[in-house]
Amino acid sequence: ATTMEDDNYFDSYEDIEIHRLMLKDVPRTEAYQKAIVGNKEQFEGKIVMDIGAGTGILSLFCAQAGAAKVYAVEASGLANVTREVVAKNGFSHVIEVIHGKAEEIDLPEGVKVDVIVSEWMGFYLLHESMLESVLLARDKHLKPDGVMLPSKATLFAAACRLSEFYTEQVNFWDNLYGLDLSPVGQAVLTSKRCKPEVAIVKADELLSSAVQVAEFDLSWLGTDEIERVHSRAFTSVLCDEPTEYQGVCLWFDCVFEWPDQMASSTVKLSTSPSSAATHWKQTIIVLPSSIQVEEGDLIGWELTLNRSHEHRRRYQIELNLLDPEEDEHPVPCSCGQARC
Ligand code: SAH
Repeated sequence: ATTMEDDNYFDSYEDIEIHRLMLKDVPRTEAYQKAIVGNKEQFEGKIVMDIGAGTGILSLFCAQAGAAKVYAVEASGLANVTREVVAKNGFSHVIEVIHGKAEEIDLPEGVKVDVIVSEWMGFYLLHESMLESVLLARDKHLKPDGVMLPSKATLFAAACRLSEFYTEQVNFWDNLYGLDLSPVGQAVLTSKRCKPEVAIVKADELLSSAVQVAEFDLSWLGTDEIERVHSRAFTSVLCDEPTEYQGVCLWFDCVFEWPDQMASSTVKLSTSPSSAATHWKQTIIVLPSSIQVEEGDLIGWELTLNRSHEHRRRYQIELNLLDPEEDEHPVPCSCGQARC
């Protein structure tokens, strides 16, 4: 049986702690605030839908920005508290809280919205699959020329060192009480196979530039396009000294763009290792063994994110390393090797 595991999923969002963590995440929340309250002229008189309103924060920003009407749609039981929050802030005449799933609810006869705002992003962007609901709700409720916020989302990958992970989980076993328990450390590496985890990667642990894995334009993206994301990439090692290639780091960026807006005023929310830390941190895929690399070495991988059939809110992530000597290079290739 396939399931969206909706009961557990929405129950988890009734846990206030999750919302506290999201509101505590200043880069996240401020990006939305800037994109919304910083663009009052875009909201003046508009009809907005906030998909997954949670505590109501984004709906309140939209009301502050001058929206004429905000439908704050929240599927979890938190919706009742959201309604009180709205009243407390004196916006009950603007914000209407609807308890239901955004893709299932019906707005009054003939009503379509000008703007959809939503904070749907999960770990490595796609975890939780809330994006599918947002796309279905877009097709149902957004005017043909309506605006999606965020408007684009990009998933990136880069080769990395995993210093802390190695110190604590792998090399920890090398010498204990005068004995060599290193096979346990090796077993840890084996157990991580294709089980990505959330961790903080420092900017100086990245060993290559960012490789784009997928770019989603929320205005056009189809639900079929998020079933499987596949990317094959070759990149060269950038580092001052020989070092250890131990994992692949995943993160995402989102941009909030208005039609005809100047690129310089686009708000960007980045979860990259070189940006201010967010609650998403980064996602790491640990290699089965550490590989010695140095400046200019060519490394390649094939990365696939497959939406699970049994658990529709999860993805199976598969990473295969490519050997630049044997595996065909993608085109175009800028590695400068004669074989290309
Ligand atoms: N907008 C809030 C909360 C974001 S978390 C904020 O920025 O702080 C995502 C919220 O979306 C959760 O509260 C979850 O219950 C809700 N949600 C997820 N899928 C939904 C759907 N299909 N329809 C309505 N709400 C949904």
